[in-house]
Amino acid sequence: MNERETLKINAAGHLEIGGADCVSLAERFHTPLYVFDEAHIRTMMRVLRRTFEEEYGGRGLVLYASKAFSCKAIYAIAQAEGIGADVVSGGELYTAMQAGFPPEKIFLHGNNKLPSEISYALDCKVGCIVLDALSEADLVEAEAARRGVVQNVLIRVNPGVEAHTHAYIQTATTDSKFGFSVADGSARRMTETVLRLPHLRLLGYHCHIGSQIFEKEAFVLAAQKLLAFVAEIKRSIGFEAQALNLGGGFGIWYAEGDAKLRPQDYRGYLSALIAAVKRECARLSLRPPFLFVEPGRCIVGEAGITLYTVGTIKEIPNVRSYLAVDGGMFENPRYCLYQAKYSAVLANRANEPATELYAVAGKCCESGDLLGVNFNLPKAKRGDLLAVFSTGAYNYSMASNYNRNLVPPAVLVRDGRAEYIVRPQTYEDLVRNDVLPNFTDR
Ligand SMILES: *Cc1c(COP(=O)(O)O)cnc(C)c1O
Repeated sequence: MNERETLKINAAGHLEIGGADCVSLAERFHTPLYVFDEAHIRTMMRVLRRTFEEEYGGRGLVLYASKAFSCKAIYAIAQAEGIGADVVSGGELYTAMQAGFPPEKIFLHGNNKLPSEISYALDCKVGCIVLDALSEADLVEAEAARRGVVQNVLIRVNPGVEAHTHAYIQTATTDSKFGFSVADGSARRMTETVLRLPHLRLLGYHCHIGSQIFEKEAFVLAAQKLLAFVAEIKRSIGFEAQALNLGGGFGIWYAEGDAKLRPQDYRGYLSALIAAVKRECARLSLRPPFLFVEPGRCIVGEAGITLYTVGTIKEIPNVRSYLAVDGGMFENPRYCLYQAKYSAVLANRANEPATELYAVAGKCCESGDLLGVNFNLPKAKRGDLLAVFSTGAYNYSMASNYNRNLVPPAVLVRDGRAEYIVRPQTYEDLVRNDVLPNFTDR
């Protein structure tokens, strides 16, 4: 696939994504609308896969962390690009299976996998289950024994690295609901437990130090700590991990202040990790393990934008101006959750200078229903088309029907063509599972 910009401004002054004019997309598919550039997604997957091939003899597998954006099409793309997938629920696993994704390339995660999810994962014959609790080992052991199979597992550990990211989305310090701490000995005790269970095959360890991380050093430090732990386990109990999963978390550009990387630049993150693993293994006399990484956000984040139609504009003199769109927290709750930053343009007048500062509001009945408060835009009017960037990750996947708004559809664009990958919801969908109870007088 040729390398070209995901986004550009065309001769009409309209924003274009993947060769498709956003104004035409909005006319054809209506707003709000999630739009994904297939070339960007594929390039990201390919860059990382090739890094393993070229720098680690192919002894690594990229797993797409599908919680970032889960629908059948994305699993189909991941499969075509030869990468695996992480799932964190029965629903994500079901979606992957429905897309025909090879189960041996699926990893199941979660800090509280339901017994039903574990059972379903074994029915599907997923490649690996990442254990996150002592009691989970027993559940997986029982299900595997019942089927007479041996299940591959990893143990999720906290290497104790604090990545510089927003506190709410950081997951790998000792005070975390995820994983076993290396520092307090629980990771070692879990290793001993798992090694005693006959229907579990312990491949090694997993860690995920957080999200939206730009510092390569954070990943390198985590790899070093993990390998030090591997060496210590080898020395003390004779178990040498043959695989390590170093998680995801590569940062993307959202707004001013974030580094703006091209897809090819993500090679550098994986290169640094691979180099650190090789170096530490040589130093500690370990066999270089099979490696996994689990990028989610960087695969789909910048590949996606959301298109909105501008509705009411409320200018409060000396306070601020609110620009309301036909979306909001039901299709992108990230500002509400952790004040995530975004940037935007008016896609129908993308050449015009940004002279105004707007808070962009959604249409939900919550004063906090905002997409952000610092959007620099030209003076906007009702009917303008707003394009918010970098919405490909954790937007659709976090959407809800709050206020009984419809979750917007998603389209995939490629060389100017566009097609639904998630069809629009309808009002009928909203009441599909509603039931009027018999005992209520009517
Ligand atoms: C969320 C998550 C990822 C993906 O993180 P990104 O920041 O989207 O790359 C990877 N691994 C695990 C275990 C996760 O929970």
